[in-house]
Amino acid sequence: RPSWGQTEEGMLTQEGTLKEACNIRVMQWNVLSQGLCLGRDNFVRCPKEALQWNLRRLRMLEEILQYDPDIMCLQEVDHFGFLCPILSAIGYDGAFCPKPDSPALYVKDSNGPDGCCVFYKLNKFEFVDKDTVVLKADDAYTNQVSVVFTLRPRALCSSSSIQQLCIATTHLKAKYGWEELRHKQGSYLLDFLEKKVNRSDALLVCGDLNADCVEPVYNAFVQSSLKLSSAYKDLSPDGATEPNYTTWKIRGRTGPEGGEQHVCRTLDYIWYTDHALKLKALLNFPTDEQIGQDRLPSFRYPSDHFSLVAEFALLKATESD
Ligand code: NDP
Ligand code: CA
Repeated sequence: RPSWGQTEEGMLTQEGTLKEACNIRVMQWNVLSQGLCLGRDNFVRCPKEALQWNLRRLRMLEEILQYDPDIMCLQEVDHFGFLCPILSAIGYDGAFCPKPDSPALYVKDSNGPDGCCVFYKLNKFEFVDKDTVVLKADDAYTNQVSVVFTLRPRALCSSSSIQQLCIATTHLKAKYGWEELRHKQGSYLLDFLEKKVNRSDALLVCGDLNADCVEPVYNAFVQSSLKLSSAYKDLSPDGATEPNYTTWKIRGRTGPEGGEQHVCRTLDYIWYTDHALKLKALLNFPTDEQIGQDRLPSFRYPSDHFSLVAEFALLKATESD
């Protein structure tokens, strides 16, 4: 099991010693579409048994339950109908937005489209409103979506001056060659949030941007007037470098040359506004050894993406001045 990392402040970071009532634990996870993982993804090193839904769905739940997030942002969900009743039974509410033309629709035994969803704990937050957004580029709809919730922290967090928390998630267009589309999609979401979010509100934007930190869309997040910071940079010694990976997998090459393609990249992020939220702790990524030479997914890791988990404190009036 991965450990908790050291943040800038040198906080207590042992798992189980955090979780103050007023803190908010946020999980970002691309769960891996069941429809895509058995075929199109071509994970040649992963035993087929590890990808069977009957096993994988329990590993998925285990992953979520062990971190006990107050808010979770999930992508590539094509089993909302499985997750929703279980998570509802343990106190979450949430919503799903399918991709308009999900590739998961076209596979044998499809369970429907994949998409993004947000879940939050009802005992911590009161619902204010929700948007499901199909991202546009050049005024045309694209195949990528976002879910945006506005929530009000309940009484147990009443010492905070923050009236509302806005939480958005997205999964941008995948693959090399689509950098400009990702940039347009990310900029569209940022514009949407700039119009929606009050300056005094706390904002979290979590997602699989399918872009590393040298891409224009990453820069659009950094430069945004929303003043977003990337939480996971805090894990690095200089506090300014993104992690080495958030996904690590091996695909079979489909071309005539065959062979394997090793993909070890940083594509997933938790962005937050530091005028309203103080970063308290981050979950470390498993090490090379813990991951194993066949990488993800595997019997241990049900997705090809790692979970990102960050714990924040809502700042009080005097702290946020
Ligand atoms: P994306 O290009 O965004 O990718 C879809 C998924 O493929 C992502 O979840 C991504 O995962 C994964 N992926 C990334 N790289 C690879 C790779 N090298 N090999 C396999 N999978 C990969 O998809 P779009 O939403 O743009 O959808 C594609 C379009 O294709 C749809 O519009 C659909 O109409 C069309 N389509 C049609 C089919 C048909 O039979 N007619 C079949 C399939 C698709 P991650 O983000 O984790 O990298
Ligand atoms: Ca994927």
